[in-house]
Amino acid sequence: MSTSHTGPRFDLECVGLSKAFGDFRAVDEVSFSIPHGSFFSILGPSGCGKTTLLRMLAGFQRPDAGDILIQQTSVLATPPNKRPVNMVFQHLALFPTMTVAGNIAYGLKRRGVSKAERDQRIDQVLARIGLPDSGEKRIDQLSGGQKQRIAIARCLVLEPAVLLLDEPLGALDLKLREQMKVELKQLQHAFNTTFVYITHDQSEALAMSDQVAVMNHGRFEQVGTPQALYYEPATAFVAGFVGESNRWVGRITDINGDAVELETAQGLRLRATAPKSSSASLSVGQAAAVYIRPEAISIGSALERGEGVNTVQGRVDTILFDGARSHFTVDIEAAPGLQVQLPQSGRYAQLARGDAITLHWEKAQALCFPAQ
Ligand code: ATP
Repeated sequence: MSTSHTGPRFDLECVGLSKAFGDFRAVDEVSFSIPHGSFFSILGPSGCGKTTLLRMLAGFQRPDAGDILIQQTSVLATPPNKRPVNMVFQHLALFPTMTVAGNIAYGLKRRGVSKAERDQRIDQVLARIGLPDSGEKRIDQLSGGQKQRIAIARCLVLEPAVLLLDEPLGALDLKLREQMKVELKQLQHAFNTTFVYITHDQSEALAMSDQVAVMNHGRFEQVGTPQALYYEPATAFVAGFVGESNRWVGRITDINGDAVELETAQGLRLRATAPKSSSASLSVGQAAAVYIRPEAISIGSALERGEGVNTVQGRVDTILFDGARSHFTVDIEAAPGLQVQLPQSGRYAQLARGDAITLHWEKAQALCFPAQ
């Protein structure tokens, strides 16, 4: 099957892809398209169906329904080794006692590429990943980061249409993981190959991706740029899973357009905004959740401006210094442990544990969704 396009060229398209194990729907009618050359992440908690989806793309698992098109051609009937995709695993599956060149040559040999062409392509790929002249080194002589690059080079040398990466940074220590985020992004640019990256780590997905799909219970909750997911979450799950948020639960007392008023069980009055995606499912009297980013909260009272809402009195509990900004937890009567992020400058620098403070946030930055 093939389709024609007038828009961007898609390297990968999934249409209504589903997979159940018994009665359990691991992947439930997932559809998406990935333009050529993009870094696309699938982000979700453990058990949400990420690996099952990736295994279907690679051809290791047969979908119950739906279609997978790679560069406009359905690959459902194509076995894994014939699909124009390659997969990088968390445990890199390199041959440890073989040389770097031997590892990279392996896939090329299996495809019947001649020795002369293999040598040339290995030299090229090693230069592009910044490890020229390392072909004769043994894998067990390399650092963790170098091994990671070789594992990716071994796949990219085969020139796949799509590279699938299954939590490749999961086994690395924190420092190397931070470094590899930059390197993966550089590799993806250098090869201009479409990457599909699965992870449960939102900081990885936000840092590297052009587009992120947030997955929950086998479905995509939202697909968007990292910025869109962070600033305009479409569902309560995305608001809670992507980035840090404070969450309040209350009962809706008034709705006027996208403006929602709520009262919590402790009598705290909140004004919030209903995103387009949630406004139709909110009604007066219903329980709803409000999400506020730590950096959206500021010190000072809105009472001065005649607004008696979205203002709380509290006491500083902990202060975590983090360079230019500091993370505070503030205990307020209605709820302990409010997360607040403030610049580490001026009067904020003077704050200490136990200080009484008044906090305020704007209605526009408090997003309201039906309580889950
Ligand atoms: P993790 O991040 O923990 O790897 P995941 O998001 O990749 O999780 P999957 O491995 O795709 O999730 O699993 C999704 C669900 O499907 C899980 O509840 C899992 O137990 C179930 N599942 C996966 N494979 C099978 C199988 N072969 N038989 C039965 N159930 C399965």
